[in-house]
Amino acid sequence: MNNQIKRVVIVGGGTAGWMAAAALSKLITSIEVTLIESDEIGTVGVGEATIPTLIYFSQLLKIDEAEFLRETQATFKLGINFENWRNEGEDYFHGFGITGQSCWAAGFQHFWRKGRELGIASDFSDYCLESVAAKANKFAQLPNNGLNYAYHFDATLYGKYLRKIAEQHKTKRVEGMISKVNLNPSNGDIQSLTLKDGQLIEGDLFLDCSGQRALLIEGALHTGFIDWSHWLPNDSAIALQTESVGEPVPYTRSIAHKAGWQWQIPLQHRVGNGVVYCSQYITDDKAQEHLLANVEGEHLTQPRVIKFKTGTRRKHWNKNCIAVGLSSGFLEPLESTSIHLIQQAIVRLMRIFPVNGIQKCDVDEFNQQTDTDIESIRDFIILHYKVTQRTDSDYWLHCRNMTVPDSLAHRLELFEETGRVFRKNNELFDDSWMQVMIGQGLIPKSHHPIVDNMSNDELKRFLQTIKDTEQQKVAGLPTHQQFIQHFCATP
Ligand code: FAD
Repeated sequence: MNNQIKRVVIVGGGTAGWMAAAALSKLITSIEVTLIESDEIGTVGVGEATIPTLIYFSQLLKIDEAEFLRETQATFKLGINFENWRNEGEDYFHGFGITGQSCWAAGFQHFWRKGRELGIASDFSDYCLESVAAKANKFAQLPNNGLNYAYHFDATLYGKYLRKIAEQHKTKRVEGMISKVNLNPSNGDIQSLTLKDGQLIEGDLFLDCSGQRALLIEGALHTGFIDWSHWLPNDSAIALQTESVGEPVPYTRSIAHKAGWQWQIPLQHRVGNGVVYCSQYITDDKAQEHLLANVEGEHLTQPRVIKFKTGTRRKHWNKNCIAVGLSSGFLEPLESTSIHLIQQAIVRLMRIFPVNGIQKCDVDEFNQQTDTDIESIRDFIILHYKVTQRTDSDYWLHCRNMTVPDSLAHRLELFEETGRVFRKNNELFDDSWMQVMIGQGLIPKSHHPIVDNMSNDELKRFLQTIKDTEQQKVAGLPTHQQFIQHFCATP
């Protein structure tokens, strides 16, 4: 039993580090958790849009939602408005809900497709409650068949909030810079960390949450990286915080430009903005010019350039080290999936927590599940670029013409030829595939024959009833801002 895992050391106090510390110290009470962070280095300071799965993480930690909203200045998020992605001047909405009603044989898209052909269907998003509510700037937590939502929050405040939870559950925080990672000469495991001030921190299991530095997983263990920049060539971002100029909308804006896209994340107290771009097609200066010309409100920070490389670690768990967060790799924030992947890694670790020592089968299972998750999200992100109709710049021409992973090529072909989409391996995105494919202008060539069992009049009534029902549900809701004010005021 001398392989028991008792001391967990978390390297890094960004979103990844504090999420891990809060969850592990609260829920696995047999271990001691130490978190090391360097104020001198700081955190990446972005990562403010989430997806609905975060709610499960909050529930796991028994977080009081109103308190969380107050302390992180959070707003609600019902999806993402994609502007200029299909073509300049056109937009579509990716909502967090299910679109329309399916039957056992065919998804709603088949009914919608025939309706569209007959001229009796409107925009695909008109049949999704979340999209209808978002576009009307409405929000509420409905008791039955409620709105599926996520949050936008201030990343720094979220870290502080989680730190409080972690420290309440005896996480020990050490401030200082790690200058050396000491390996066990007999098996190559990480044994301890030496800090610049001479402190030595020993542990049994190490979580590398050191961000892009990947201090342990790469710096010490040389695990290797799989580069995906040939599919996702963006390699840079510039972030800028501005004052709010109006009420926050309950969605993220993603606005494509000639060599990437711009984000706008509305919080209660400010707006998070940024551009993501590919340095092969636009310089940092030009990208900054574009950002500054397209934000409103007083600047609260200086524009900050962040360079990144898209890809994934060859192994996310290597020896006695698990990479969580940016140290594990990076997929650009187009669908706000990084924090979800952090949460997945933490929950996965807790499910197979190696109390009595690390087993190869656990490590292999962890790595395999992680790869499956990330590859499916990667394909979903590539989809947005591949299925553009834009031809106005070399960047978009490159995206349209690039070869995509076989897994995505198959999905695209299946959808275009037959309108079918199948959810695989319990993957994260489901209805979203349809919403984005149709939103980007990919319309299936045919629909499932079961749709023809309905007369055209029946189909018209079917489509109209769904649309009317969504609109009626939304009509009586408060505005997003009214709901936040009321909700946060509740003690
Ligand atoms: P960091 O925040 O970089 O933290 C690293 C920590 O390690 C810091 O505390 C640092 O001090 C510490 N550290 C490093 N080296 C040492 C050392 N030698 N000694 C001691 N401490 C050390 N994700 C989303 O889900 N939604 C989004 O909208 C989103 N937007 C993004 C936009 C951009 C431009 C980028 C680049 C990322 C975005 N992400 C987003 C990803 C998200 O920001 C990260 O997944 C998240 O912030 C986690 O970061 P981290 O904790 O891994 O790293």
